[in-house]
Amino acid sequence: MQSCDENSWQKDLRDVVTDPEKLLSLLNITPDEYLKHFTARKLFPVRVPLPFIKRMKKGDFSDPLLQQVMPLAKEFVVTEGFTVDPLAEHDTVAEGLLHKYKHRVLMIVKAGCAVNCRYCFRRHFPYQDNSPNKQRWQSALTYISEHSEISEVIFSGGDPLMASDDHLTWLVTQLEKIPHVTRLRIHSRLPVVIPNRITTSLVNLLSNTRLKSVMVLHINHPNEIDGYLIKALELLRQARIPLFNQSVLLKNINDNSTTLCELSEQLFDAGIQPYYLHLFDPVQGAAHFDVTEQEAVTIANEMLATLPGFLMPKLVREIAGQTNKTPINLA
Ligand code: SF4
Repeated sequence: MQSCDENSWQKDLRDVVTDPEKLLSLLNITPDEYLKHFTARKLFPVRVPLPFIKRMKKGDFSDPLLQQVMPLAKEFVVTEGFTVDPLAEHDTVAEGLLHKYKHRVLMIVKAGCAVNCRYCFRRHFPYQDNSPNKQRWQSALTYISEHSEISEVIFSGGDPLMASDDHLTWLVTQLEKIPHVTRLRIHSRLPVVIPNRITTSLVNLLSNTRLKSVMVLHINHPNEIDGYLIKALELLRQARIPLFNQSVLLKNINDNSTTLCELSEQLFDAGIQPYYLHLFDPVQGAAHFDVTEQEAVTIANEMLATLPGFLMPKLVREIAGQTNKTPINLA
C-alpha cells in the first residue's frame, strides 16, 4: 500500500499550472498587460507546481521565483553566441547516457521536469529521442557495466525524481549488480518545487542501497526555501544522505551578493551544503538571464568577504568538451 506522501506528490504533479494566464491569476496579477509574453510558451512549455507558486509574492510580476518560470517575449530574440545545445550534450554514448567525465556518467532517467525553468540549458534537448524506459535503461546499464572506469552514476533528466519509486528501485538494483559502481548521485529540483516528493520509500531506497547516495538540489533564491521544504528534507537528513546545492547565477533573479549570501545561510540552516554557483550556460532563448563573468567575479568576491569559507559555493563555468567544470579565478 502506498503512503499518503506518495499519493500527494503525484497529485501535485498532475495539478501543475501550464497556462501563464492561470499562473498570473493565482498571484493576483491581471494578465491583460502581459498577454504579449504568453506565446513564448510555444518555445518551451510552461510548467509550475502549486507548492512553488505559493512561495511567490502576490501582485509582483518581478518576483524572483515567478521570473524563473514565466515565459517572456524576449525568448524569441536570437542572440549571437547562444546555441540550442551549449554543452554539446545532444550526442549520447548509449541511449539516454552521457559520458562527459572519465569516472562519472550522467543517465537521463526521465524526460521532462515538474517545473520548466526558462533559463534551462536543456530547454531544447530532444527528450523525445531519449525518452527513457526499461529497455533504454538496459542499454545504458550495459555501457556502464562494460566501462570499469565508471564509479559514479548521476541520475539526471529532465528530472530523475519524475520516475516512480518502483522504477527507481529497479534501476538502483541493476546498478548495485555492477561492482565498479560505488556511488549514486541524484540531481533534482523536484523536491524544491514539490517537497512531498521526498517519500519514505525514496529515503529507504537511498539509505539501504550498497551505493553511497548523494543528493544535489537546485535552489537559486532564498525565497525557494520554506518550512515545507525544510520539513521534507529532514527525512533525508535523518537518513544521513548528504545534501548539496547548486545554483545558477541569473540576471535580475539572484545577481547580487546580498541575495546569494542569504541563500547560503538558509541552505546551511536547512542542512544543505552550498556547492556550485554556475555561470549561466548560453542557451538560445534565454540570453536575458546572462550575467557577465566580470559581474560574477565582483559578486563572488563580495560573498567571500561576507561568508565563512564553508558557505562559499565554487563559482564555475561548464565548457563543452572539457573533462571537468572550470573554476572561475576570483583574483
Ligand atoms: S528542473 Fe532542471 S532540468 Fe528541469 S527545467 Fe529546471 S533547470 Fe532544467
